[in-house]
Amino acid sequence: MNQLIVLGAVVLVACGGKNSPPENPYKGVQSSKSVEVTVGLETYEVRGESAMELAEQMAEKGPRGSDDEAFDAYTTWWFTWPYTPVETDEGCEADGVSVTLKLNYEMPKAAADQTWATSLTRKWRAFTGALWTHELGHGDLALAQAEDLQKRIAALPVEADCDALRQVVDTLGDQTMETHNAAQRAYDDETSHGRTQGAVFP
Ligand SMILES: [Zn+2]
Repeated sequence: MNQLIVLGAVVLVACGGKNSPPENPYKGVQSSKSVEVTVGLETYEVRGESAMELAEQMAEKGPRGSDDEAFDAYTTWWFTWPYTPVETDEGCEADGVSVTLKLNYEMPKAAADQTWATSLTRKWRAFTGALWTHELGHGDLALAQAEDLQKRIAALPVEADCDALRQVVDTLGDQTMETHNAAQRAYDDETSHGRTQGAVFP
């Protein structure tokens, strides 16, 4: 089962003067035909009347990385690769391979009961859009890796026995996670954690 979170895109009418902060300009989430994907969204609320105030709120309330570094948004991923070892005349093979990917996005959300200048609304919308682009990029990388792992385990040849099969699958899983982590780090390096994609505020 794919669990989709659908947040419709919000069209703001530019009417000058003041208005409420925009919703997250969210366009879609990962889904897959071969891998079971679950997507979660957590938000933390920010409030302020200027870009500086909002930036301070994100620094204060935003998610923390492994070494306590503050981020405006954060994507987390978990993989599992269950299968059933089946003994055959030739040896042992992996059956019922079903890779799962759990993604979680942590994003800032502007408190709705504020009134903002149109310029701030526009700035925030551009920023959160770019932030989503960056975080969804992490999600896409994770999904590509999960689909690749699914394909590779399902294509494994019959092993001499189920212990040998287990070893091969474990190695494949470990290698895939290493490749994946390297790809995620490279993506952050290339985009400077989203800055080159416009995810920088104010
Ligand atoms: Zn990143």
